[in-house]
Amino acid sequence: MSSAGPQPARARPWLVPVGALRRRPGSRLDVEVTAPIDELAVSNSWVPEGAEVHFKGAVESAVGGVTVTGRVRAPYEGTCRRCLDTARGELDIAIRELCVDEPDPELGYGVGKDWLDLEPIVRDACILDLPLAPLCRDDCKGLCPECGANRNRESCSCATSADPRWAALASVSSEGQAEQDGSVEPGVGDDDGPRQRTE
Ligand SMILES: [Zn+2]
Ligand SMILES: [Zn+2]
Repeated sequence: MSSAGPQPARARPWLVPVGALRRRPGSRLDVEVTAPIDELAVSNSWVPEGAEVHFKGAVESAVGGVTVTGRVRAPYEGTCRRCLDTARGELDIAIRELCVDEPDPELGYGVGKDWLDLEPIVRDACILDLPLAPLCRDDCKGLCPECGANRNRESCSCATSADPRWAALASVSSEGQAEQDGSVEPGVGDDDGPRQRTE
């Protein structure tokens, strides 16, 4: 029943045997693979080297190829776009791909007579899903533009742009003579709605 080909499962965990499947149209194989994939990274986030990437899904025979459906999960780390601390999260990606005997070299995924290599599919899914501008948390307060203090961990005496009195002063001075040195970020953390005076 099994083909007399190589048995690369140990060395190549993302290779799936599809020979029997492909000889029986309409048949399906449940597949689950957990293994690292090297060099999954975009500019500001990455899957840590050696971290396990998990695929769970199925391969089904189709005309001229196979379809792959399932989910990819992997942990990622990145550089928070506001505070530059480490951001962490998990990729969780739904996969649906057609792999054919003669794929478009630019766009398509191929499948052999006996083996399907899942790695390029899983790799591309991770690369496309890695965040380009990650956040360490949704409400990250970022760095003070004056002194560089991490506002998630400390408050500094120059952290004034969140103070409505200073924001009002900044907008006044930018309309008149600009005494500020331009370091106040207009509108950060402020809406433009009416504000009650409480004095
Ligand atoms: Zn942050
Ligand atoms: Zn500061």
